[in-house]
Amino acid sequence: MYRSAMYDKPLLNEIAHIKKDKIKSIDTFPNALQRKEKVNIPDLDETQIVRHFYRLSQMNYGIDSGIYPLGSCTMKYNPKICEEIAGWDDFANTHPYQDVSTVQGNLEIMLELERMLCEITGMDYFSLQPAAGAQGEFLGMLITRAYHELNKDNERNEVILPDTAHGTNPASVTMAGYKLIEIPSTKDGTVDLEMLGKALSEKTACFMLTNPNTLGIFESEIIEISKMVHKAGALLYYDGANINAIMGKARPGDMGFDIVHLNLHKTFATPHGGGGPGSGPIGVKIKLEKLLPIPRIARKDGKYLFDYNVPQSIGKIKGFYGNFSVLLKAYIYILMMGRDGLKEASEIAVLNSNYMKEKILKSEKYDMPYKQLRKHEFVLSCEKLKQEKGITAKDVAKRLLDYGLHPPTIYFPLIVKEALMVEPTETESKEDLDEYIDVLIKIANEDPELVKNAPINTPVKRVDEVGATKNPVLTWKMI
Ligand SMILES: *Cc1c(COP(=O)(O)O)cnc(C)c1O
Repeated sequence: MYRSAMYDKPLLNEIAHIKKDKIKSIDTFPNALQRKEKVNIPDLDETQIVRHFYRLSQMNYGIDSGIYPLGSCTMKYNPKICEEIAGWDDFANTHPYQDVSTVQGNLEIMLELERMLCEITGMDYFSLQPAAGAQGEFLGMLITRAYHELNKDNERNEVILPDTAHGTNPASVTMAGYKLIEIPSTKDGTVDLEMLGKALSEKTACFMLTNPNTLGIFESEIIEISKMVHKAGALLYYDGANINAIMGKARPGDMGFDIVHLNLHKTFATPHGGGGPGSGPIGVKIKLEKLLPIPRIARKDGKYLFDYNVPQSIGKIKGFYGNFSVLLKAYIYILMMGRDGLKEASEIAVLNSNYMKEKILKSEKYDMPYKQLRKHEFVLSCEKLKQEKGITAKDVAKRLLDYGLHPPTIYFPLIVKEALMVEPTETESKEDLDEYIDVLIKIANEDPELVKNAPINTPVKRVDEVGATKNPVLTWKMI
């Protein structure tokens, strides 16, 4: 009663009138098509529906709710001004089919961004096309093949990876048709030069590396590694998904890398997770420029254009020219931060990571295998907790949810037992870091039964993760 009384009577009459006039009466439908039972949908009013969905939205956890130290994923705060500007009509409403004369500003931004990324990484040319880090890696492998083919060096069918490599690396190598050669790390968690020397041969197309590696350790022998790889006639590939570890401090180009990919959606201000949109541009040294995908962005007689006339290019890798809004946000972010700002971001990312690591290790509840010095992330082991109290890395991760905190990455890299891979990033305050540290230590001291049954405070309790992967139920059936 109350609800219908709120509606404007004349308006209701008008709607009823239109209905009668314009829409066929239900009686005119053939009998066979007419529904026999009432539709089984909940009969709720607007208030109830709004509250239901608002409550659901609050069950989400994101970087705007709190710390999200997912190692290797760089889940950091992204300035809202980047979102704001990317939403301006002039940008958001441009279409890739528009004539280039009408999108000169967009092209100018992209070309400038390419140059900025060259400066940050020490590479000569960039392509902004790939939509993700993994696609950048795949493109890097296609370029590697094209390069060796061009040199009539067709026997090279192997790509070497260290055993700390991010999971997308072996996938990209395999998808590109290369044979994967994995080499074990030293006891310090770095590339074993002796093993690398043994693995390198006239069959090696490329050595793929992350520096700092996924343990957060900087490969200090990188110049020697670069010499060895190049002497064997292979290329050196840099997985720069997490360049926020070294921005403004060191450049992969100067370390001897030939190809680099970056994850703009990790380091350069695009919120990510849930599958995109992302951007994984790749940079190359001059000897590989002519192989980059088409179109290339160019400037001629004062006009920006898409250049398709690159005969040796590997072709196209992505529809149109990548995800423009992500490129735009990266451009704004880099402009706002400036040279010193980017450097400071890396310094704070590394400081935060080492601060957390030191404080957690002092508690002696968690171990950290391999060398002590870390960059933007560190990998703890819960092995001692497991031996002493039966608490696993997964239990710790689940219990963190009870405290309203997002867990770190777990069980990666594989060379650390019961791994917790923590990347606090540069955007967290000391108070938030301290809280996280305190909770991790508290969990280690809690009743093991409580931790093993966590989470208990969340809307969804411990889920059957194996069942969910083996038997996914992807649709909701209303009964
Ligand atoms: C995230 C990440 C990738 C993959 O990037 P996507 O955009 O998710 O495809 C590759 N390597 C490292 C080290 C990463 O952290």
